[in-house]
Amino acid sequence: MASRVIPVDPFDLVIFGGTGDLARRKILPALFRRYCAGQMQPGTRLIGAARAELTDASYRDFVAAALDEFDIVHNHTDEQRSAFLADLHYVRLDATGEDGWERLAGLMSRDRIKAYYFSVGPSLFGPLAERLHRHGMADAGARIVVEKPFGRDLETARDLNRTLAQHFDESQIYRIDHYLGKETVQNLMAIRFGNMLFEPLWNSQYVDHIQITVAETVGVGGRGDYYDRAGAMRDMVQNHLMQLLCLIAMEPPAKFDPAAVRDEKLKVIRALDPVSPAEIVRGQYLADADKPGYHEHVENPASTTESFVALRAQISNWRWAGTPFYLRTGKRLRARTSEIAVVFKEAPHSIFGAEAGRHRNILTIRLQPNEGINLDVTIKEPGPGGMRLIDVPLDMTFTEALGPDAEDVPDAYERLIMDVIRGNQTLFMRGDEVEAAWAWTDPIIAAWDADEAEPVPYDSGSAGPEEALALMHRDGRRWREIRV
Ligand code: NAD
Repeated sequence: MASRVIPVDPFDLVIFGGTGDLARRKILPALFRRYCAGQMQPGTRLIGAARAELTDASYRDFVAAALDEFDIVHNHTDEQRSAFLADLHYVRLDATGEDGWERLAGLMSRDRIKAYYFSVGPSLFGPLAERLHRHGMADAGARIVVEKPFGRDLETARDLNRTLAQHFDESQIYRIDHYLGKETVQNLMAIRFGNMLFEPLWNSQYVDHIQITVAETVGVGGRGDYYDRAGAMRDMVQNHLMQLLCLIAMEPPAKFDPAAVRDEKLKVIRALDPVSPAEIVRGQYLADADKPGYHEHVENPASTTESFVALRAQISNWRWAGTPFYLRTGKRLRARTSEIAVVFKEAPHSIFGAEAGRHRNILTIRLQPNEGINLDVTIKEPGPGGMRLIDVPLDMTFTEALGPDAEDVPDAYERLIMDVIRGNQTLFMRGDEVEAAWAWTDPIIAAWDADEAEPVPYDSGSAGPEEALALMHRDGRRWREIRV
């Protein structure tokens, strides 16, 4: 069962910020893999645009080095690599200046899909959109891809939406959240809406609670300056965790199309209750024997920015009233893992008596590592000696279940960039969704600012602050272990 590749017609793609970290690590290797997979046709034109003084030839060298470093697929031929590099061009320009724009406009084809990837800071989104428009590159076949962060609060997100809307229609704007491009995230929709088994139970009558964990082992690394102004709430919760929450909680859309899916996601965000300070814990990692702590990483000993958030969210609608959603994310935690766990209620009555213990089904959707799905089922412990019950996992790790084909599954950036070219916005955030997410997070952040709240310290390599454990203990529940 090889993964099906539907080739797309040749297109033009401009990567603004084509010499940046994201372009090098993610965008260019993703394009190369789609090229090798046969999805991108020869003649497709890729144009890097940035401020560096490069020529086409030196940009090709730059991209070749990036592929050496970051392309994890090694089964391509030298011919494929040379052909891919030959289709690359470079235009030197400043997003806020005038030089280079005419040359870029001259390179763009007529009658082709044209995509502009804004892999630059958000302050440049407006100047880029305006210049694309002014130089005649914002026609109906054009689309723009914008990276996170999309604003830092509701007001700035609204401003950005308004600015982009002056030059592009909403149907041309692709706000990327690479979490939505992950295979398992889409599988979440397949599991929910492609099976009869789960959806009837997918509500507060049967689900005790849901946990969403995105744990990282790394610290803020080289992004200290940006991160210290953002924090985990803005960097992770407002976008990635919120999107996962939407997909797990939304009503079945009438069909799998962008408007229907995004309408349902928006309804979830709008049904979220405000979170009180007692329902949220923010933390900051400490140094350990080997590595510096948060303060040293961001070179700001007075920083009160959080590198960890745990919170209890509640969705006030018919389906979910009474079922809490616990969200947690942080840096320098015990393991790098992202998962969603749907914890079902216990059976209403145990015919096996109290000694059989308490058991519940848990459906776990693992986003990383080892993408897959796991269902804990209660069975009899094998052997004589009465009816003792144990929980065993029905485990479907995709690489095991699907064999080598699972290795060929495109990564998030590959899939999302191809969706842009095909004009499919289902896995991208709509402007009103982003604004609604900020409308929910803004009061939380404002309350921290008003109280001058300090995050609680936690040990690097731990599961986060003790207070986060207490958040669930108070409800008679506990977090799943953070482990690979
Ligand atoms: P970077 O600093 O490594 O690269 C920035 C790029 O923008 C460079 O190519 C630079 O030449 C170009 N640039 C800067 N100012 C310019 C100007 N005035 N005119 C034209 N080009 C200009 O940044 P990055 O890490 O590649 O991130 C790019 C965007 O993607 C940022 O908004 C970032 O928040 C977002 N992002 C990055 C990552 C990541 O892993 N790096 C992940 C998610 C989102």
